[in-house]
Amino acid sequence: MRYSIFSLLRQALVGHRGWEPAWRDAEPKPAYDVILVGGGGHGLSTAHYLAKVHGITDVAVLEKGWIGLGNVGRNTTIIRSNYLLAGNNPFYELSMKLWEGLEQDLNFNAMVSQRGVLNLYHSDSQRDAYARRGNAMRMHGVDAELLDAGAVRSMLPFLDFENARFPIQGGLLQRRGGTARHDAVAWGYARAASERGVDIVQNCEVTGFISEGERIVGVRTSRGDIRARKIGMAVAGNTSNVARMAGLRLPIESHVLQAFVSEAVKPLVPCVVTYGAGHFYVSQSDKGGLVFGGNIDGYNSYAQRGNLPTVEDVCESGMALMPAIGRVRIVRSWGGIMDMSMDGSPIIDRTPIDGLYLNGGWCYGGFKATPASGYCFAHLLARDEAHEVARAFRLDRFAAGRLLDEKGQGPQPNLH
Ligand SMILES: Cc1cc2nc3c(=O)[nH]c(=O)nc-3n(C[C@H](O)[C@H](O)[C@H](O)COP(=O)(O)OP(=O)(O)OC[C@H]3O[C@@H](n4cnc5c(N)ncnc54)[C@H](O)[C@@H]3O)c2cc1C
Repeated sequence: MRYSIFSLLRQALVGHRGWEPAWRDAEPKPAYDVILVGGGGHGLSTAHYLAKVHGITDVAVLEKGWIGLGNVGRNTTIIRSNYLLAGNNPFYELSMKLWEGLEQDLNFNAMVSQRGVLNLYHSDSQRDAYARRGNAMRMHGVDAELLDAGAVRSMLPFLDFENARFPIQGGLLQRRGGTARHDAVAWGYARAASERGVDIVQNCEVTGFISEGERIVGVRTSRGDIRARKIGMAVAGNTSNVARMAGLRLPIESHVLQAFVSEAVKPLVPCVVTYGAGHFYVSQSDKGGLVFGGNIDGYNSYAQRGNLPTVEDVCESGMALMPAIGRVRIVRSWGGIMDMSMDGSPIIDRTPIDGLYLNGGWCYGGFKATPASGYCFAHLLARDEAHEVARAFRLDRFAAGRLLDEKGQGPQPNLH
């Protein structure tokens, strides 16, 4: 069923009784070509591109709960491609280009909004670092503008320019960055993949792997054993847990990240803004709520909720940047489990076990990567070779010392 203005009008005439379910809630079959473990953004987008780009449709996405309830529906929805390193930038720019055509590709309104992402700087050295990043972006063909304090003030007059302890000196703006409606991204990919024949199997937890010799040939699940030629893990915060079932120990730790939404206010924040002197980022949803977050809680956890010291820290940073935010009430907050890698960059690679492939280590930046991650993971699963923009995301880079440390923080997951 195609969504369009005409289908909307047709349904309006029949009292909206003719809408079909957006995707089939499939029963698992005994065997598939490819199994994707995890029905988050990355598992679903991989299934879509496997079917669409490579013609591989004998695919199952196995999700232990309901799709969209993991990080794909818990994030603060920011999309951008403002990366410095050559190993990262082309990958995130591919993602941005896929975002730009996503709604036409999926025939689904994911509310992709290129309202701009502005990273503020508060010191000369921070300006220099942002100028370097902006130059690297432009050399990769990505848009970037370095703004001075006056230009930031005319865009965002409500920020604290007068009494701030760390005065705003300017910002690095990527106008093509912005936001997308996170759960609609999961639904859109699920619908498009299902239409091409992919089985989306919900309430199907993978509890173990089936091996024959050195090769993994299937999974044990809460709904029985299922065999497959290739198995891709895309379980985000549960990556180390699922990998452990296959006997793999990965350079990934799980930490909580929290997000907050305020009551709705009139249009105020026109773009995504990040504070450079503390950990705080804010945008405004189309419903009017201010959507914001800060740092990870900083300790290992598999709980999808965080603790009060981080709530306090995020709110303090928000007040320091934007004092008016103290007048709005927070109506919702939640946490998600982040798969923090040792260098802050992801892994899209084969594992040392035949038949088992890994997509993980997204830290707190995997939402913006959803399209390219699926595109490149599908390429790897279909052709057994890395896509050219994902070559740096190798699993052995930690052992080989070829880290992709975008932030320059060293091998400490809690700092990335
Ligand atoms: C509060 C918060 C804010 C964030 N903000 C941003 C942001 O602004 N921009 C950005 O780019 N990124 C952001 N992120 C990060 C981003 O959301 C994640 O990196 C990304 O969504 C992870 O990929 P995913 O969508 O596939 O994960 P998920 O949606 O978590 O998918 C993994 C799925 O695997 C399933 N699963 C786990 N174990 C099993 C099993 N054994 N069997 C079957 N299924 C299993 C889970 O139930 C889950 O549905 C944020 C994350 C959080 C929590």
